Amino acid sequence: MPERTESESRKLLGRLREALAESSAGQARLNRITDLTADSMQTEVCSIYLFRDSETLELCATEGLNQEAVHQTRMRLGEGLVGRVARTARPVNSANAPQERGFRFMPETGEEIYSSFLGVPIQRLGERLGVLVVQSKDARIYSEDEVYALEVVAMVLAEMTELGAFVGEGAALSARHMQPVMFRGTIGQEGAADGNVFLHEPRVVVTNPIADDPDREAVRLTEAVENLRMSVDEMLGHTVTRDTDSRQVLETYRMFANSRSWMRRMQEDIASGLSAEAAVEKEQSLARARLQSVPDAYMRERLQDLDDLSNRLLRILTGQGNETGAEMPLNPILVARNIGPGDLLEYGRRLRGVVLEKGSVGSHAAIVARALAIPLVIHAAGITSEALNGDRILIDGDQGIIHLRPEDNVANAFRDKILMQAKAQERYASIRDLPAQSTCGTTVRLMMNAGLMADLPSLTGSGAEGVGLFRTELQFLIRNHMPRRGELAALYSRVIDAAMGRPVIFRTLDIGSDKVLSYMKPQDDEPNPALGWRAIRVGLDMPGVMRMQLQALIRAANGRPLTVMFPFVAQFDEFREARQHLLDQLEREDKLGRILPSETRIGAMLETPSLAFAPKQFFEMADFISIGGNDLKQFFFAADRENERVRRRYDTLNVSYLSIIEHIVGRCADTGTPVSFCGEDAGRPIEAMCFAAMGLRTLSMRPASIGPVKHLLRRVDLGQVKEVIDGVFESGEQSARPAIMDWLRSQS
Ligand code: PEP
Ligand code: MG
Repeated sequence: MPERTESESRKLLGRLREALAESSAGQARLNRITDLTADSMQTEVCSIYLFRDSETLELCATEGLNQEAVHQTRMRLGEGLVGRVARTARPVNSANAPQERGFRFMPETGEEIYSSFLGVPIQRLGERLGVLVVQSKDARIYSEDEVYALEVVAMVLAEMTELGAFVGEGAALSARHMQPVMFRGTIGQEGAADGNVFLHEPRVVVTNPIADDPDREAVRLTEAVENLRMSVDEMLGHTVTRDTDSRQVLETYRMFANSRSWMRRMQEDIASGLSAEAAVEKEQSLARARLQSVPDAYMRERLQDLDDLSNRLLRILTGQGNETGAEMPLNPILVARNIGPGDLLEYGRRLRGVVLEKGSVGSHAAIVARALAIPLVIHAAGITSEALNGDRILIDGDQGIIHLRPEDNVANAFRDKILMQAKAQERYASIRDLPAQSTCGTTVRLMMNAGLMADLPSLTGSGAEGVGLFRTELQFLIRNHMPRRGELAALYSRVIDAAMGRPVIFRTLDIGSDKVLSYMKPQDDEPNPALGWRAIRVGLDMPGVMRMQLQALIRAANGRPLTVMFPFVAQFDEFREARQHLLDQLEREDKLGRILPSETRIGAMLETPSLAFAPKQFFEMADFISIGGNDLKQFFFAADRENERVRRRYDTLNVSYLSIIEHIVGRCADTGTPVSFCGEDAGRPIEAMCFAAMGLRTLSMRPASIGPVKHLLRRVDLGQVKEVIDGVFESGEQSARPAIMDWLRSQS
């Protein structure tokens, strides 16, 4: 077979384009492609295998093999040479296929007479769609040019598959993006939502994979890359010098944008007949395939940067993107790879739910989703490539499950679930103004956690008796610069206004660990940030910021009561020092003639086991203690709260953990120090009930949990709950949960 030239490749693509433009049915188009490719490449056989489901490939069209085998011959992923191409996403090029390891003979196809075999993957942006194969009788290795030419045809096939070109009567394929798909992710925020996909970054659709004027395409590509370089330089110009992470990403962008080899490969793709968009996508697909097999995390990140850059380039070329903006559908459910807290806040309460491919339970976006009380599922791998704007989508935030384009029976069952939840909400609303009083007469104060202005409307709606934890760092996290004192004072003042006389506990800046401010980072990367320079440690080491925040709080109170607590206190001295800062600021503000708070209460968060064993004088000095169970639990069990592998390993109702809660309650009782619990567990009804049984009388939780927690507390006798727990302490069981659940069942 002669060496192929670029113009031959282009000729083939030209013929393919004509064939695809004919308004024939899907199967006829597939047949035409095998026919033209075999002819152009002068091989006896050309076949297309496509995925039936994620594990099975099916022969869907062939030129040269027995026609009866079409839609009959199937193989599993990894089986035979075709299966190997599909699994590895790499070409297989063999002069003597039957001798190859793993070769599988398919008698119905009549392929035994063909010696040489070349198979290339059909893939789009890392998504496997099938395998394209040529075979011939003479034993030979296909040249690099031929491999390349076949890859270009595979690329066009992938694009056309995406556009639904092979769907129709007698077709092998059901259209992509039309079938129901279920995703299993991680719970970010409970709740259920039924709505329509709204892509944060709409998927770019390439409608013109083949072009007839390579010169024009080359110019389009050059202009677009130039445009891209300029925008990267501009972004670099705007990046704060200290924000090393963003700079690093942008520097990598710049490196890729200026990469000659990247540009050269895309120019070659164009010369062989692809459009500029298809050339970008072809290189992007190859990079994604590499991404999946690179073991080194640093390299994976760099390839990810290239992927992001390719997306930007595609948006420039196609003019598609958020700016050109798909309309927000009715009941929008945001689907994104990841999203920053600022962007999410901007969408705000218009969203019915959020689904992310990345993110973490403690991420800022998750915190915002919680504040907005919208169901959130994270780690939904691959959803941004599957979902299209406007697709129906159901989120089950209670189980971390998503149904995309659901079948009717799934949608109906889901509707029942939403109805049940609505009924429960009605029940909670009916007890909103009643106390959380158990049947034995104990009353528990239920407060809410907040941190954003978006939280405040919940103060009235939820029936919270006040704000038990106001996370002030969220205001710092959603900005890219340090907020000014006046700005903060105004904001805190609005929070106190909204509380209308109910208490608000402001927690001073709790940054570090997972909450990193781009403009205030430790100089060196910390090997173990959760155990590192965070919260009060930063405050005491950089007192300027702490003083500024304390002044803002005093000014916000402006004659009203002020309650402040310091986060992550690990020993008495830290609390004493921080408290002294507040006392000093009160004195300073007084000297400046400002109105002081009518009363100032100063408390500490107990988030490390060490503080539970602090000297008695600590408990005497603190006006109140709040148990930060999220951190306390991670340090008590030495299990990272952000690590999916371990974070659920230890039950909150583990007897050891309940013992330390009881111990803290006891220490506070000795000195008459009020104590509350404000970690996430306070919002889980069973956990809240057990904490109340251990003696806690104030719980602070996300607003949506107040109804369910109150509902349960009002139905139980806490004395009996305590008896069950005491029984478990005696029994040697590890967790009180099974016994508690049995007891609850016996009550209904
Ligand atoms: C906690 O640790 O329980 C807590 C309330 O603080 P955060 O979740 O903000 O670390
Ligand atoms: Mg904490």
